[in-house]
Amino acid sequence: MKKHKGGEATMDRPLKFFDKFKDVKALFSLKAHGNMKGPEGEANKERFAEEYFREMFYPVLSDTRHGNVVCVIGEKHSVYPPKIVDFNPKCDAIVTRCKKLPIGVTGADCFVIFLYDPIEQVIGIIHASYKSIEAGVIEEAVKKMCLLGSKVKDILAVIGPGICASCYEFDTRDTGIFNKYPDSARNLQGGKSLVDLAFIIRWWLDDAGVELLNMWETRICTFENTALFSQRRDRFNPVQAGMGVICLL
Ligand SMILES: [Zn+2]
Repeated sequence: MKKHKGGEATMDRPLKFFDKFKDVKALFSLKAHGNMKGPEGEANKERFAEEYFREMFYPVLSDTRHGNVVCVIGEKHSVYPPKIVDFNPKCDAIVTRCKKLPIGVTGADCFVIFLYDPIEQVIGIIHASYKSIEAGVIEEAVKKMCLLGSKVKDILAVIGPGICASCYEFDTRDTGIFNKYPDSARNLQGGKSLVDLAFIIRWWLDDAGVELLNMWETRICTFENTALFSQRRDRFNPVQAGMGVICLL
């Protein structure tokens, strides 16, 4: 994959996706919005929701596990007024067809994938780490959207910010990744390789039946772009992260 410049360090607004659709809002927070992970992220999450998802329910944010569990959020989880619910399901993806209920996942190098079916009005969001992808989280999320009424051919996918193929170093000895996706990896010296996680995500989306023409990539690298959280660059302990949020309006 072609190396791209992260740039955009002066970004002062969250990244926005699916702009041309009026029934959905999808955003990715910046470092300037603060850490969204763990108990200390609660206040930042609340501020972000108040600013960008006013008049809506409190966002449901997954407590990521690097697995394949997908949580389907139904009407019973929508509690009004906002700020009442403190609901962090233990999963790596959330899908819903509830309106005005933002759903989100955190990310700091791991990719966030936004899913939207404009026909049936179903949304999904995935925390795509190498582990959760390999556990099958993408396929599971697409399946759950179909259980909520979507046809896979109608599902649109945005591969949000994440660590790019020039920055994601893997220990060659530790994984079978190179046999499975030979086109995704480039060998370096000293037992290291560079891996194209976005390529692997496209592979899984394609395998789940999402059409190639319905996939978009932001190609914004979290590692190179200092306006975004990057665990490999920042090495916060505990991990700090931004969040992707999507909501049916
Ligand atoms: Zn990069």
